Amino acid sequence: SPSLVWFRDDLRLADNPALRAATDRGEPVVAVFVLDEVSPGIRPLGGAARWWLHHSLAELGERLREKGSVLVLRRGAAAEVVPALAREIGAGAVFWNRRYGGPERTVDAAIKEELRADGVEVASFAGSLLYEPWTVRTGAGTPYGVFTPFWNACRQLPAPRAPLPEPRTLAGPASAPASDDLADWELLPTRPDWAAGLRERWTPGEVGARARLREFLGEDAADYDRARDEPAAGATSLLSPRLRWGELSPFQVWHAAVGSDEPVGGFLSELGWREFAWHTLFHFPDLATKNLRSAFDAFPWPPLRPTHLRAWQRGETGIALVDAGMRELWATGFMHNRVRMVVASFLVKNLLIDWRRGEEWFWDTLVDADAANNPFNWQWVAGSGADAAPYFRIFNPELQAKKFDADGRYVKEWAPESAAREPIVDLAASRKAALAAYEAVKRAG
Ligand code: FAD
Repeated sequence: SPSLVWFRDDLRLADNPALRAATDRGEPVVAVFVLDEVSPGIRPLGGAARWWLHHSLAELGERLREKGSVLVLRRGAAAEVVPALAREIGAGAVFWNRRYGGPERTVDAAIKEELRADGVEVASFAGSLLYEPWTVRTGAGTPYGVFTPFWNACRQLPAPRAPLPEPRTLAGPASAPASDDLADWELLPTRPDWAAGLRERWTPGEVGARARLREFLGEDAADYDRARDEPAAGATSLLSPRLRWGELSPFQVWHAAVGSDEPVGGFLSELGWREFAWHTLFHFPDLATKNLRSAFDAFPWPPLRPTHLRAWQRGETGIALVDAGMRELWATGFMHNRVRMVVASFLVKNLLIDWRRGEEWFWDTLVDADAANNPFNWQWVAGSGADAAPYFRIFNPELQAKKFDADGRYVKEWAPESAAREPIVDLAASRKAALAAYEAVKRAG
């Protein structure tokens, strides 16, 4: 009886424990990906993420075929689709790598129960995080709220396991189950086709991900600690969409980094922030909609000014670094971390627009839009989150530009004419207004 491997945020053949369990079973392997836009609470993918997913799935399907297996595409509520497919192929076992979001865990638990009731073997594996969230707790048994002790506690645990090799071949089923046509999912933009800049910048898929990891560790990592904050330097790994889609596992990245000749301490601690964000989401599934610090519920957001939100989204604020970042995002589906912090601070603290509006825009436009990292970092900037930047720390985007884009290369590339515009808000006056509004949070908390 075949093994069914359910791919989700792990679009890779190497270091895939669920796939490994299937090959170890020695029976034919059927792979499935379910586009689930209907299960309660599952957040629909944003536009840039859909673009990435299309290309990554196309490659995964190709590679599974080359190895001798098959990728079945189905659409609908996973809780119906997966057990139905398991029955259809007479699966003896179903394997997957764990997801950590609240609604996803509910879906997975229900499926596990149903399959087991059918007498099917089910097992789930750790593939997306270095440390399982329930294994990292304070002495009092609570989740960590501060990064440094969190990361120190992680580093006390056994080191991340070595990555598994890619299977050389896979046994496929005698006949391939029916599959949707990827094109029918309409994951790619048509009118207008806004993806030209994404195509130019990115090569989605496991092969490109592994190549980028090698390239980063071979060339750019040497400069990481010095230049990682400079948006024009190209010193960071650009692995975030690859980690988001699991084209690389954190275990692969970790071991490749540790085994390289480069000084990678700073880089490893960024992987630690990814762990921290995901552990926070695990313990606080409403991270994208609710303030982690509830005192922030008292923040007196003024009525939304849609013209300001639109100017921010389009990179037409008249603040050069903000405009450059927002245009890089729109054109390429990506923005450098330093600039993400600056544009987020500007939205929340100079325009006084609720962080959730910014989080939604990023969710729709980032190729690495991540259910944990995105809201976690928005709350971090807003001051409402875990180990957050204090609210009163308001980035001055002009000073940030002087410091991190000293020669103006980044701004010149993305928003050369922005400096000639009239800013939509006065930086000093809006900063004052934000600090005054924050008094309400202080009183509440
Ligand atoms: P590198 O510096 O090379 O870091 C290596 C890896 O570590 C990254 O690929 C990423 O997986 C992880 N990482 C780095 N910084 C962070 C961080 N601050 N928090 C969590 N993980 C981190 N990252 C996302 O992956 N998805 C998002 O949706 C996302 N939204 C963000 C929103 C805001 C407002 C801010 C300030 C940051 C956001 N980040 C997000 C974090 C960070 O900006 C990106 O991970 C980073 O810019 C990706 O570039 P890189 O892969 O070259 O990073």
